[in-house]
Amino acid sequence: MNLVIFGPPGAGKGTQSKFIAKKFNMYQLSTGEFLRKEMSDKTVIGEKISSVINTGALVSDEIVSDLIEKVISDIQYKNRIIFDGYPRNLNQAENLGKLLKKNDQKIDIVLKLSVSLKTIKSRILERQNIEKRSDDIEEIAIKRFETYEKSTEPVIEYYKKLNLLKVVDGERPIDQINNEISDIISLI
Ligand code: AMP
Repeated sequence: MNLVIFGPPGAGKGTQSKFIAKKFNMYQLSTGEFLRKEMSDKTVIGEKISSVINTGALVSDEIVSDLIEKVISDIQYKNRIIFDGYPRNLNQAENLGKLLKKNDQKIDIVLKLSVSLKTIKSRILERQNIEKRSDDIEEIAIKRFETYEKSTEPVIEYYKKLNLLKVVDGERPIDQINNEISDIISLI
């Protein structure tokens, strides 16, 4: 089974992905974490993307596509990937479909964590104190939310039409969300 998890910044995608990975022995492919690692390692890619990430916009499709292709084509992750943060626009969604098909795989379920802007703001400010992410300051977080609405919401419609979408109320306590997601996955 391969799964895509969506949600605006601060919706709890990372937290839920880690929970699913552990419980169902899956691999969490977080494009955001990959990119942050490139930045902290000061690689060529890292240097190139830091200015983009720190404005709340999306990094180029090519850079992220290369990252995910490495994982999709790696046999040890076959049919056990959680796509956390990919796809972020329609071009990426089509690319993901193609890459999976080429490697004899598909998406089995798409989860969307729905959370209000008010909750997002307070969660991101909380996270800023703990993780010290450079893009978690309020102004950039709002820009990331706008990028999500503009570029990523249309992808949700795309998966809805393919009958793959399940919407989960992300406002509730973490363990309640864990339980609902477990039930959904267990039915696949
Ligand atoms: P995230 O950790 O998923 O919130 O991602 C943090 C930042 O990394 C985003 O605001 C984007 O700048 C960049 N990013 C992560 N995933 C992607 C993606 N699939 N396409 C383009 N940029 C991405």
